[in-house]
Order: sequence, then C-alpha cells, then structure tokens
Amino acid sequence: MTAHQLILKQRAELLAVLCGGGSAEPLDCVLDLLLACEVLVWEDYLSIRVLPEEQKAGLCFGKECAVLGKNRPDTATLTLLADRPVLVRKLRDNIDGALNALLTTGCFTIKDCDAVQLPVYTPSQQVRRLLDQVRFKGETAAKTLLQYLEQTETTRPNPEDKENHLSANCLLYQKKLRSSVAAQSHSLSTYGGTGRFSLDDIYTDGLLEVMDGSGETLTLGLEDVVGPLGTLNEDADTVLVSGEAGSGKSTLLQRLHLLWAREALLTNTFLLFPFSCRKLNSEHRELSLKELLFLHCCWPDRGQDEVFQFILDHPNLALFTFDGLDEFKQGFTDEERHCCPTKQVPIPILLFNLLQGTLMKGVMKVATSRPQAVGSSLKHYLRKEVLLKGFSPGGIDCYVKKHHSDPAMARRVIESLQANTVLLSLCHIPVFCWIVTKCHQELLGGQDVIPQTITDVYLLVLQHFFQRKSPQPQGVLGKAWLEEHLDTVLKLGQLALEGLEASCYVFSGYELQRNGLTEQDVSLGFLIYCNDLSVTDCKRYEFLHITLQCFFAALYVVLNRNSDRSAVSRLFQAQYRQLSGLSQRCLGHCIDSSVEEVESHVTETPNLQITAQFVSGLLSQRHHNLLLECCPIAVRERKVKQVVKSLSKGMQRHFKSIPRPVEGEKKSMHAMPSFVWLIKCIYEMQDNSIARDTMAKLDVEHLKLTYCNIGPVECTALAYVLKYLRNPVGLQLDNNSVGDVGAEQLLPCLHICHSLYLRNNNISDEGIRKLLENGMKCESFQKIALFNNNLTDACTQHFALLLKSKQNFLSLRLGNNNITSQGAEQLAEGLSYNQSLQFLGLWGNKIGDRGAEALAAALKNSTTLIWLSLVDNGVGSAGACALAKLISQSKTLEQLWLNKNCISREGVECLIEALKINSSVKEVWLRGNNLSPEEEEELSKQESRLTF
Ligand code: ADP
Repeated sequence: MTAHQLILKQRAELLAVLCGGGSAEPLDCVLDLLLACEVLVWEDYLSIRVLPEEQKAGLCFGKECAVLGKNRPDTATLTLLADRPVLVRKLRDNIDGALNALLTTGCFTIKDCDAVQLPVYTPSQQVRRLLDQVRFKGETAAKTLLQYLEQTETTRPNPEDKENHLSANCLLYQKKLRSSVAAQSHSLSTYGGTGRFSLDDIYTDGLLEVMDGSGETLTLGLEDVVGPLGTLNEDADTVLVSGEAGSGKSTLLQRLHLLWAREALLTNTFLLFPFSCRKLNSEHRELSLKELLFLHCCWPDRGQDEVFQFILDHPNLALFTFDGLDEFKQGFTDEERHCCPTKQVPIPILLFNLLQGTLMKGVMKVATSRPQAVGSSLKHYLRKEVLLKGFSPGGIDCYVKKHHSDPAMARRVIESLQANTVLLSLCHIPVFCWIVTKCHQELLGGQDVIPQTITDVYLLVLQHFFQRKSPQPQGVLGKAWLEEHLDTVLKLGQLALEGLEASCYVFSGYELQRNGLTEQDVSLGFLIYCNDLSVTDCKRYEFLHITLQCFFAALYVVLNRNSDRSAVSRLFQAQYRQLSGLSQRCLGHCIDSSVEEVESHVTETPNLQITAQFVSGLLSQRHHNLLLECCPIAVRERKVKQVVKSLSKGMQRHFKSIPRPVEGEKKSMHAMPSFVWLIKCIYEMQDNSIARDTMAKLDVEHLKLTYCNIGPVECTALAYVLKYLRNPVGLQLDNNSVGDVGAEQLLPCLHICHSLYLRNNNISDEGIRKLLENGMKCESFQKIALFNNNLTDACTQHFALLLKSKQNFLSLRLGNNNITSQGAEQLAEGLSYNQSLQFLGLWGNKIGDRGAEALAAALKNSTTLIWLSLVDNGVGSAGACALAKLISQSKTLEQLWLNKNCISREGVECLIEALKINSSVKEVWLRGNNLSPEEEEELSKQESRLTF
C-alpha cells in the first residue's frame, strides 16, 4: 500500500488524532514537519494558517518526510524552515531571549514581539509565530536568530553537568531569585509613575568602551561587560563600569539583571545578586556574607545552608553587582582584610573585601561608579574598566523613537533637537535625553528661554512635573509658577542638600515628615519609592535621579532666605578642600584628624560639583524673572557676586599651576580635574562678560585636556569660554569623546585655536566637514591631528579644499583612519596647490601604491614639506619609486617614514638613487618591509640615511 493510500484509509483516525482534544498542537507539529521537508510550500502553509481550525482537517499530505540525509540549505531562512520541528522544541523555553536578540539588533519591533507573545498562544505556538515573523522579515532576521541559537548552545553550560550537583533547593532558589530580579528590573524608575514603559520598550544601547593593554580603545556590547574583552588583570574579578552622572550606569546594570533573569544573557551565571550601594549605606548592622546575600537579595525558602554552601563551592557560577560605588559613604580602602564568609563584619569591610577578591575569590563582580570616585587603590583590583559614554547620535534618535510611539511626534522632537545642537549635545547623556524627550511639549510649544544649559533643562522638568499636577485647565502654569510652588521646592531642596552633605540618597518616611513634606508633595513625582529586593517594613524614598537631588539642593541654596551668608562660597570651596585632601593622600601623607573627612568628601564631590553648576545656572541673568518674586534682588545679587568670585578664584588656582616654560618649549597648561567643572559653571551663567574676564588672565600657548571625559556637553562649555582667550592656543583634546556633535560645538572657539588635537575621539567625515568649513575661514588655524577617528575617503575632499585655500596651513595628521588610494588622490589634488604644509601624516591607512604615487607627484613641487609618514599603508616598490622622485626634487623634506609597508629591494634601490642627489633628507625609515636581513644590511651600507 502506498503512503497515499494508507492515509486515505486512516483518514478518520488521523483526523481524530490531529484535531481532537481541542488543541491545534498535533496539527501544527505535522505542519512543521511538512514545511521542513518541503512537502508544503510556504504559500500553502499561510493559507492553511488562516483556515478555520476545522477545515485544516481536510488536508491531504504528500510524500513521506525525509528530513535526514537532506543537503543543508544554503540560506538562513531555509535552514530555519528545515529545522523547524527541532526549533519549536528548542526555543519553547527561551522565547524571551530570542525576541530580545531580534529586538536589540533591530530586526523586530516591540510590536512584533507583542504579536508573538500574545497570551492566547501556547509557548510552541509563540515559537511558530516567531519563526513565521522571522521568515517574513528576511534573511538578516533569520541569521540573527541562528546566531542567537548558536550562542546559547555554546555558552550554556551543559545542563547535565551542572544539574548533577544542583539540588532541588538550589534550583528552587534560583527560580525565586530570577523572579525577584525580573520584577525589580522590569521597569525604569524614571518612568515609574507613568507605567507606560517597560525596560524592554525603552532600553537603548549606550556607547561602551574599554582600553586594552596596548592603549587601543575597543567598543563593547552589553554581553562583553562581563566577558574577556579588554581584560587587563586576569587575577582580578571586579569589572568597573564608569560614567558620568546620568550616563546610564544603573540602567545598564538593570538591563543585565533583566536579561539574566530571563536567561537571555549571562547564561553561565547560575545566581546573580544585585546590590545598590546607596541602599547598603543604610545597613548599619554587622553582617556575614550569607546574611548580606540573603537579606539584601532574597531568602531561600528551603535549604539555606545548602544553597549557601553551593555558592561557596561554585564561585564561578555567581555574579554580584554593586550599583553606585561612588554613592557608598566610605571611600574604598584595602586596609582591613577579611575572608571568612560566616563572620559578621561591618558592611564596608564586607564590600571592600568582595571587590578585592579577598572574600569569595572567583565570584565575578560588576560595580558602577562615576570616574572621579575611583581612586588608585581600587584600580589595583580591577579586572578591567569599562567606560559608559552615553548615547551615540544614532542612539538619541533611537531613544526618541522608542519614547514616542507616534512617529510624527518622534520626528518633530528629532528635528527640534537638530535645530538646537546645544540641546542635541546634552542628549548624549541619557538622563538629559530622558528629560528633553519627556518635556517635548514644553520644548516644542516655544519657551521664553530656548534651553541651552543643563539648568534650563532641569527647570523644564520642574515645570513639567508641576504642570502635570496643576489644577488649572489644561495644566497651564502661570509666569510665577516657581513662586507658587516655592514652599514645596524649599522643603524638597532642604532634604536634598542635607542628604548630599551626608552622602544620603535614601530617605525614610520620618525624614520626609521632619522636613514637612506631605503626601501631596511626594505625589508630584520628584521622589519615588525605593525599588528594593530586601524586605523592610518601612517605605523608603529617593529622588528620581541623583542629578535631580543636586538640582533641588541648588534651588535651596539659591532660594532659601534664611541660609547663612556663606552657603554659596562654601559649596564652591568644598571642591578645593577635597582636592587638596586627595592630593595629600596620594602623596602618602597622613593627616590623622582629617582622614575620615577626606574619605567622605570623595563621595560628595561630584554631587556638590553638579550642585554648584546648577547654582551658577539658577543665578544666571536668564532666570532673573523667574526668581524675581522668590528671592529678594539684593540677596540674589550677593549670591551672584559670590559665585563669580569663587569661579574667578578657582581659575586663578589653575593659572598659578602653570609652570614656567622650558626654554624653546611652549607655555602650556595641563588641566587639573576641576578645570572642566569650572568652565561648565561659567557656561551655566551664560554671561559673556564673566567668561571674558576669566579668560583674559589666562596666558598659555597650549592647553592640554587629554583623558578628561570631554563629550559634546563639555565642548559646548569649552568653546563658550575659550573663545575669549586673548591669544591663539593649541587645544589638545586627545582621548576624549568629542564625536561629530562635539566637533560642531567647538566651532565658536576655532578662530582662537592655532592647533587642534583630536586624536581618538570618534569623529567621522560629517564632523570634519563642519570643522573644516569653518576652519578654512580662521586665519590662525594651522594644525590638526586626527589620529584614530572614523575618517574615510569622504572627508579628503574637504582637506583638499582647506589645503588649496589656506596657504598658511602647516600640519595635517590623519593616521589610523580608513583612507584609501582614492582619498589620497583627492588629498593630492589639494596638496598640489599648497605651498605651506610642513607635516603630513597618514600612518595606518590604506593608500597603497596608487595613493603614494599621487601624493608624491603632488608634493614634488612643495617648497615647505619637512616630514611625511606613510607607515603601514600597503605601499610597495612602485610607490617607493614614485617617492624617490619626490626625494630627488625636494629641497625641504627631512624625514620620510615608510615602515611596515611591502617595499622590496627594487623600491629601496630607487630611493638610494634619489638620495644621492638630495642633501636635505636626514632619515628614511624602512623597518618591516619585504627585505631579507642580508638585503637590509647590504642596502644600509650603500646609504646610511636608511634605517631598517
Ligand atoms: P547613572 O546610573 O549613570 O546615573 P541612570 O542609569 O540612572 O544613570 O540613567 C538615568 C536615566 O536616563 C534613566 O532613568 C533613564 O530614564 C535614562 N537612561 C539611561 N540609560 C538608558 C538606556 N540605556 N536606555 C534608555 N534610557 C536610559
């Protein structure tokens, strides 16, 4: 009997099996198989899917399936089809992870995920919807899914191995921990009240970087935070994620937690224990490690000792996270060693020993902190330091689109940001991006003051929250809105300031009451309930974000009529007390009475700096009208004077630190840590005369601000202040995160820069275009260094134009970018018209022979070129021969760098011939080319100026 006949014969029974029991599952399984064997074509399958259930029974199946032995399909889409029956089983328990992978790569939208996860579907049906949707999205989505499957397969520890020694109690505890971590990390606190967004809906990847051993910057994905990439110290188990306030550190940890809870990431981690340092501050008991884990995360319902023993025995299966190390009251020290997991000790000892690895060696730890708060003693124990640099320009767009489900609204917000690049640069910091997006109505509705400073942005959010609760029709606030809410603002301000001074960021109901805060005040939304895993009886509150606490503290300093007269000066001076304290500590001096004072300042300083920045902003003339009725004019003016004096004094300290120039060298200033902060305070004041007066006293030729965490926001402030320098400077901003937006922010001070050093700053062609368009018009602008950015051939036409039009331009360094022969040809076009360039560096590009030939031809007639580097550019003998012609004609060239190319004997011989008739060239570097040691020896004998 043929298969066909067999089916016909058993039709009734088959129908009963396939459609009986009210479940579509048996039929769906058969459909999976038929699809996999190509018996059923996709169109048929789709038409079956829309059939009413009972009609599906009328199907007739073709040939027998033969999945085995078939050739592997050659596209990802077909692979998914061929493996469909297996995949349905595999993905059933892992749908969240798969969806997340598709979501984060942009293959799926939130809507797609929701459609897959409709609660009416069983898990298997959800997988089938997922597979259908992936097929519909195309090959990239299919590849992403396959990659995800491969990853989970390789990273997932063999369950049999692990489960061999996993007792039921451990598994039960893992389940409990997973579900409490999931519940805790499911939504963002800043969206807490609205209930509109889950973390999935709004999470946008930030820029993560790590410096490897050779000083190269690597970009990381979320999964790499705990991974091996960028590891500097194999013996250490603590990864530090550092970033400025609001750069998204807590959110990043939260995302890690959520993905772990769903088994979508960190699949090798069996137990994850999340801690918040601000909450640990209020733990005054002495605790053992066991108590810390179980009290602050969750208790095992059964077998506590067994679960704890499991953790001790398998440290490699546990991960501890500590959010906000900078908010921990006590600065890190490694003075007291403790390694006993059952002994009770004060929390700081427990925490510091965990971070060092003295206690629970082998448990991976991830801690977050602001960069200023990490001292050298902690750095010693770090496996690696990952820098979180906020959103990229693309990230900002992506975030706005996620926030506004209405695409037209998202577009309007993005357009308004692009029209106000200062605001756009602020949006690189996620917390500002959140405010700007949240307050879009106020922004788009046209404000009296177009937001330019972070104070403007925080006033916007203040207004927004009051408006939300306003009893007025449509929530319109009057001009005197701040005065109307002054009482609440002052109460919140006092709580905030006292908190900051005591490194306290979590408040009890009692503390709120003591400050006179009512339920109504709390309901405004500036304070939120603490999201806490540990079980406590009383409610605790915190400000929506630490920067908001600083803002309220600043409002209090400015608006409180009863504050003592020196409150403002004290706030500014606190920075110096701390700095001098720190430097003394770094020098190893012991200052007995003040040790504790110094330690606690470490946590306060960044917050007090932000507060001082807000105080400067609030006292700006721009907000004069808003503050008019809240604060007597005389008091306000006194405070303004105090701020101006403090800023001026602060700058003086820096200027005094400038060493006398060594003879023959430029007078240069290396910025000290608070220089950028002072500049930001001056910017907040938005008063040209203050900026001018401060800068008038700065007399340097070179200003060095390398590794200073300078992003677009800092560039705005720098340009605002530096534009008033009396004489041109070299501005060295190497190794920061200027980016294209930051480069654009620098334009106002370009006329005062004779040199601009922007090595390693994530700048691309677009940023360069804007920079050069302006640079061309600046008489003083003569040098630019752009080593290690994202430049391609698309930017070389702008350099060509600059070289043509600026006959006093001296130095162009474009090393380690992506310039090919085409780009070199464009550059050559500009060079052939230039008679000023002395230094040209193209190290580490890909210009090849063609590029070298073009450059050599263009530079032949140069009467100024002194130094040329084409190291590591794929230049062969043809290129070298072309360069030989340049040598034979040049009267100025002194150094030619050709290391790491593929020049052979023939090319070197050309160079030697040319050198015979050239007396200006002093050195030609040829290390790492296609020559044997014997050839090198022989050729160097022929010409001593060659270096192999
Ligand atoms: P930090 O811990 O560095 O101070 P947070 O993680 O608290 O910063 O971020 C502040 C706010 O910025 C968050 O509450 C959220 O609204 C927004 N935010 C930060 N990072 C992200 C992100 N990756 N995706 C979406 N929103 C973010």
